[in-house]
Amino acid sequence: MEQIAQWIAGRPQASSDAAFLPVHDPVHGKPYAYCPRGSSDDVDAAVAAARAAYPAWSRMSGSQRAQWLNRLADAIEVRSEAFSQCESRDTGKPLALVRDIEIPRAIANFRFFAAACTQSLDQAFHQEAGLNYTLHQPLGVVGVISPWNLPLYLLTWKLAPALAAGNCVIAKPSEITPMSADLLARTAQEIGFPAGVLNIVQGSGETVGAALVSHLDVKAISFTGSTTVGHRIAAVCADQFKKVTLEMGGKNPALVFQDAPAHTLQTLVRAAFQNSGQICLCGSRILIHRDIYADFKKAFVTAASNLKIGAPSDPGTQLGPVMSEPHFRKVLSYIAMAREEGGSILCGGDAVSPSGYEGWFIAPTVIENLPMDSRFCQDEIFGPVVSLHAFDDDDQALALANASRYGLAASVWTNDLARAHRMAAEIECGIVWINTWMQRDLRTPFGGMKDSGFGREGGMEALKFFTEPKTVCIGTLPNG
Ligand code: NAD
Repeated sequence: MEQIAQWIAGRPQASSDAAFLPVHDPVHGKPYAYCPRGSSDDVDAAVAAARAAYPAWSRMSGSQRAQWLNRLADAIEVRSEAFSQCESRDTGKPLALVRDIEIPRAIANFRFFAAACTQSLDQAFHQEAGLNYTLHQPLGVVGVISPWNLPLYLLTWKLAPALAAGNCVIAKPSEITPMSADLLARTAQEIGFPAGVLNIVQGSGETVGAALVSHLDVKAISFTGSTTVGHRIAAVCADQFKKVTLEMGGKNPALVFQDAPAHTLQTLVRAAFQNSGQICLCGSRILIHRDIYADFKKAFVTAASNLKIGAPSDPGTQLGPVMSEPHFRKVLSYIAMAREEGGSILCGGDAVSPSGYEGWFIAPTVIENLPMDSRFCQDEIFGPVVSLHAFDDDDQALALANASRYGLAASVWTNDLARAHRMAAEIECGIVWINTWMQRDLRTPFGGMKDSGFGREGGMEALKFFTEPKTVCIGTLPNG
């Protein structure tokens, strides 16, 4: 069994008590590696290493830091097949999904923020009261905490702006999918990335995550994960007046109108089931105008039933397993609950074993006849399961879309521009796609409203989060 390390001060290290956690392969449902079960002592050691590295890293010019980020991006690109194999094995995702989307996006994250950090946020003001200029200075040592659903993609989405802005980082990847973070740290070491600037402490959220959040020398926390954990982190950060950004759960509506364009069906099937529904942006409540409900439902169920479930390396696999045994049990329990709540299962509804694999596979599941206030429709399930709902007019579609504690993303499918603009303005969420899904310009703010998020990532928002503005005012002579 493979054994990975933590990376503190540029060196691989065991946890302070030499304890390990098993890492499972979701296709077979069996452990295949061990990752360190880090402790609060490991967090202390990583913070000390980051503090020691901070003066040199923060004093570099933006273009010097950009060079390092670009070198790291280049090194990932050279090893992209190794990263893809590593991520796909750890998560059970189809290899093509990782190769074509997730690893390229991790590389793009570093290149994007390498370019962004050479575009200064600083401003100057004069002629009203002296000469004023603002500096945007790095915070110091910051913590980034990431989930298991897009391990390297989401970790680098936080690391890149934090480093670009001049901070030194302690990263805490999910203990369920720790492998690509380890490969990233190994890659950084191979290219001579400055020691202590990027530290990775592996282990459980309750121990390593909590120690990182409460550490007094950690000046900000950037978190992506569940709303439950986000609440806990927010409380600790509030007590310390620590900067925090929280990217949390979603229960995203897709609104399909009578005049939806032809590609709607195909894109919505992808939006529902990509990564086995384990993307915070997946559409899981599909609202369909009553005039087209019956036809759309039939076509959607046929397309969902035809998705090919299998192992990552099997040619043509479109859907892998879900990522852990507790999550597998959770998703199945919600399907059982949907039955109890009066839902009709139109396809799927059960665990499956494609080609005899014994891992955590669940057939794509489509359910109707559930009221919007049912638990199934209110809770984030985060698996290959969606519910269909009919609506009669725009107002009812909006009311159903907004009947959720979450507000991350929505998609609207119509060729009526006026309707699209109204929906975009009135749906309560951080991003609305019109006739598309998952397209992202990295310069735009990213995040959710309501219980989905606090703060924004992306573009200059991320650089602002990882810096502190400081105003300098130079007095002018009375007649100057
Ligand atoms: P999770 O909240 O269980 O864990 C996320 C991370 O937090 C992990 O690294 C975990 O170890 C750590 N953690 C757990 N307890 C902690 C604590 N007390 N203190 C500090 N850290 C702690 O989430 P998950 O199950 O790994 O990921 C799935 C969730 O992530 C879903 O809710 C999904 O919607 C959400 N997500 C949101 C976005 C977004 O952009 N809004 C993106 C991806 C995933």
